[in-house]
Amino acid sequence: MAFVSDKVKNLPPYLFSEFQRRKKKLEAEGMDVIDLGIGAPDLPAPQFVVEKLADEAQIPENHRYSTYSGCQEFREAVAAFYKKQYNVDLDPDTEVLAVIGSKEGIANLMHAVIDPGDTVLVPDPGYPVYRTAVHLAGGKNVSLPLDRTNGYVPLFEQVDLSSVQKAKAMFLNYPANPTAATVDFDTFLKAVTFAKKNNMLLVHDAAYDMVTFNGYQSPSVLQVPNAKETAVEFGSLSKSFSMTGWRIGYMVGNKEVVQALSALKSNIDTSQFLPVQKAAAAALKSDFKAPAANNKIYQKRMEKLHDALHEIGLRANRPNGTIFIWAEIPDGYTSMGFSAKLLNEAGVIVTPGNAFGSLGEGYVRISLSVGEDRLDEVIRRIKELDLKEVTNG
Ligand SMILES: *Cc1c(COP(=O)(O)O)cnc(C)c1O
Repeated sequence: MAFVSDKVKNLPPYLFSEFQRRKKKLEAEGMDVIDLGIGAPDLPAPQFVVEKLADEAQIPENHRYSTYSGCQEFREAVAAFYKKQYNVDLDPDTEVLAVIGSKEGIANLMHAVIDPGDTVLVPDPGYPVYRTAVHLAGGKNVSLPLDRTNGYVPLFEQVDLSSVQKAKAMFLNYPANPTAATVDFDTFLKAVTFAKKNNMLLVHDAAYDMVTFNGYQSPSVLQVPNAKETAVEFGSLSKSFSMTGWRIGYMVGNKEVVQALSALKSNIDTSQFLPVQKAAAAALKSDFKAPAANNKIYQKRMEKLHDALHEIGLRANRPNGTIFIWAEIPDGYTSMGFSAKLLNEAGVIVTPGNAFGSLGEGYVRISLSVGEDRLDEVIRRIKELDLKEVTNG
């Protein structure tokens, strides 16, 4: 590894690669493996968005470089979306930045706001990209524990004071991956107050802002008065419009941070292909019938699986959003052990909770990214397992 940086050498091992190897092997042996480990929608992007992409791709002017911060049409569509969805005013020129998917934006943001050695609070359990982004920027991760007995809200008081005082930034994510937790405005009010008091940037990842059920509407951090002084929010077309591979999202909020990330990115990329930005703008300006229809599908899957887990005796929350169920594992197992048992004996892949931080131990994340017929098969197979006979991998 003579050519590889310590940063890359020290990236955390991808816990899931072992399961993927095992999946290939079992499939080669003829097993029908059902993969509920995938954190991405299985549904297609809306037809009108695909058509807009095709139309815009026909226009030669769209084959040129985009402006660094994203084209005007896209930034205006994001601002209009924030007005309509959250009644939040954004200046499309200074408070909105296009990113090549929020994962890209999050990773680059850390280079734009922290220096080597700086501390960042990351939710535990949480989306692993925050930790690796901090690591790659030379920062130090400090766990922000989430309260599993109370809807996975942040336990600010459990982080030691010196870490809090040193922290330059803090990540939050609701509706949450992996726990599927959703919060009300009050949680964001507390988070903004905490961030302001401690002079840290609050980075809220709203990747599932529109993937919600039962009439629940996810709030925006920017609805908190004066939140822009201390917060930015990421959004993405990936989950709400099933556009994961299109690589388009945005960061909004604090001007200085928008400007810093834009300046950094102008040295790295030149934004996204214009037809992709324009198709995404059309999606954001639409009537949201497409996400609503998809949410109905996810909700039906969620209810089916939730009811079955309940019947089997596995405890899980009944979420108001995301494409996941976060389930407690039976007594005697580790998250890895239970996940291995599901794969080996039932041909079902789930993600062990400890992949999302040490506080994820004791849980598995089950993705709702397959049709109801496949879920019926998953349920049938889990019901056949002897869960009392503990085999931890
Ligand atoms: C899927 C996901 C993302 C990544 O979204 P992209 O815009 O496709 O990069 C970001 N955050 C969370 C929590 C996710 O689950």
